[in-house]
Amino acid sequence: MNLLIKNGHLVDPARKLDAVTDVLIRDGKVRSIGKSGGGDVPVYDATGLIVAPGFFDIHVHLREPGTEEAETIATGGQAAVAGGFTAVAAMPNTKPPNDNPSITHYIVSEARRSSPARVFPIGAISKEQKGETLAEIGEMYEAGIVGISDDGKPVMNGQLFRRALEYARMFDLPVIQHCEDQYLSKDGVMHEGAYSTRLGLKGIPAAAESSMVSRDLILTELTNSKYHVAHLSTRRAVEMVREAKARGFRVSAEASPHHFTLTDAAVAEYDTNAKMNPPLRSDEDVAAVIKGLEDGTIDAIASDHAPHHINLKMLEFDRAPFGITGLETAVGLAFSTLKLPITRMVELFSTNPQRIMKVKPWGIFEGSDGDLTVLDLGRSWKFDVKQSRSKSRNSPFDGWTLKGKAVAAIVGGRVYE
Ligand SMILES: [Zn+2]
Repeated sequence: MNLLIKNGHLVDPARKLDAVTDVLIRDGKVRSIGKSGGGDVPVYDATGLIVAPGFFDIHVHLREPGTEEAETIATGGQAAVAGGFTAVAAMPNTKPPNDNPSITHYIVSEARRSSPARVFPIGAISKEQKGETLAEIGEMYEAGIVGISDDGKPVMNGQLFRRALEYARMFDLPVIQHCEDQYLSKDGVMHEGAYSTRLGLKGIPAAAESSMVSRDLILTELTNSKYHVAHLSTRRAVEMVREAKARGFRVSAEASPHHFTLTDAAVAEYDTNAKMNPPLRSDEDVAAVIKGLEDGTIDAIASDHAPHHINLKMLEFDRAPFGITGLETAVGLAFSTLKLPITRMVELFSTNPQRIMKVKPWGIFEGSDGDLTVLDLGRSWKFDVKQSRSKSRNSPFDGWTLKGKAVAAIVGGRVYE
């Protein structure tokens, strides 16, 4: 694929690139940066727009294999590029889970066949995600996984988690934890606080997250491994990650847009689209997450895109599944909410996700893949869930007006708008 992107404001913090100029893509790769005639190449006019290295959502659930009525690799990939993401990392809690190389191979080949976005699989930590014995991590690494996680579930067994950290270190893979002490969270459906009391719903205390982060950080220090906290949602967890970074631990963390745009007040009408895990937290937690995004404690924004068929989300609050879709709203929510310089935003959506996962050379430079995200920071737009490319509709952001939009995802020089 050939493409000349003209007059865009190029922002690539890793290469200190911050200039209005052209990018020429030939055969899917960046050929040159700078004013260019381009010859016979199709032109994308990026005047007034930001052109960034491809945005990479490192926490999505594509539901295939096993729950294709909610999402497939193809439809999830379409939602990704519609939201401005050129790449996603797919969590392993499919049915069956991605705990062996045959599933990894399936995801990789199906993504090549059907997904417009690049898909990088994450392997399970434990067989069947049961938390008992390690999955086939080495074989999955050979097949293409970029990290390991039992996401959806935490690894409760400290001994197993230590062994996962030690084993993953041999492949330089990050170990990604869904931090939740399941004894503390048992039967909980929302954040434990004034709202859960008022609504008569069983709460999940903030301590369910922070106590597991604390255990994991101690094991990270012990093993000197790469540890990544998924969807960080509480003040104490943010503080502990900040301290661990100051001590030089190999720790990183991500936050999901719903955890910095909504609080547990959103559950007030028993809206099942406000039910996720970790749950929407208090004002104080939201402020701490935003602070963490500002000061570098939190490295990445990841959507935790979790599609569910509408029949399940129509169940009563107690029985409905956790999770919301997020690929198409993440960029708009982040730019509407966070008042951060564009370079920092590009770090959160692209540079740092790549640094955590190390999937391939990344950025805008001669020879890199022609994977770019084009942003219109001034664009106000309304999210209409009925127009979503995802197969599922479970979003609490339907009808929200957002400012800042990813107007195109360019993957290997091919434009998705
Ligand atoms: Zn999770």
